[in-house]
Amino acid sequence: MAGPQRHNHAAVPAAAASSQTSAGRPETARHRQKLAPGASSALIVVDVQNSFLPGGSLAVKDGDEVVPVINRMAAHFENVVLTQDWHPAGHISFASSHPGKKPFDVVQLDYGMQVLWPDHCVQGTSGAALAEGLDVPHAQLVIRKGFHARIDSYSAFREADKKTRTGLASYFKERGIDTVFIAGLATDFCVAWTAIDACEAGFTAYVVEDACRGIDVDGSLGKAWTEMIGVGVRRIQTDDLAP
Ligand SMILES: [Zn+2]
Repeated sequence: MAGPQRHNHAAVPAAAASSQTSAGRPETARHRQKLAPGASSALIVVDVQNSFLPGGSLAVKDGDEVVPVINRMAAHFENVVLTQDWHPAGHISFASSHPGKKPFDVVQLDYGMQVLWPDHCVQGTSGAALAEGLDVPHAQLVIRKGFHARIDSYSAFREADKKTRTGLASYFKERGIDTVFIAGLATDFCVAWTAIDACEAGFTAYVVEDACRGIDVDGSLGKAWTEMIGVGVRRIQTDDLAP
């Protein structure tokens, strides 16, 4: 058998769910099973890059707050993958590439509707660099995406044309990883598209909400959660992970 199974849970409950109160009654608040990611799970840290942090050209509100949360969480994962938005200058997702358009306008491209952004994460620039405070030395792979000049890529698995693959699903499958936990920026774009594609590729996918921050343009954050939940993405908090 090859490939992950949709219901094959690699994240097993930790064995700490049986504590009792001093009165001897079950302590129901602590009965919620914690997830303990093992060898068949990976953490995907999405686009924690300077362009998306306060002071960056496409700053996500409070985006810097995810950094310490991710650093703490990543220490509990054997497998960590980072992604970097990685555009050539003049990329098709930049408003500056479309005369008369401005950031956050939406245009129709060959592959569908595209939100136009300020120039961001240009290859080799400081904006494209990972956040200085990100401390995940054991990360095993950095997936760079959005490097095709004419196609955007929010998802770590599949570019915005919905056809061009990044290779990440095959990498996970070859390594026996069937469950992914996703954190980073921004919840309603690169995190959401990554999570949805993970589910569609057959992985069990958790989005760790408090380790993400959203952009929320025209209700995009609520829409993204509805879509994620609709395809089977599981919404959790860092507190749902075993310490
Ligand atoms: Zn981008």
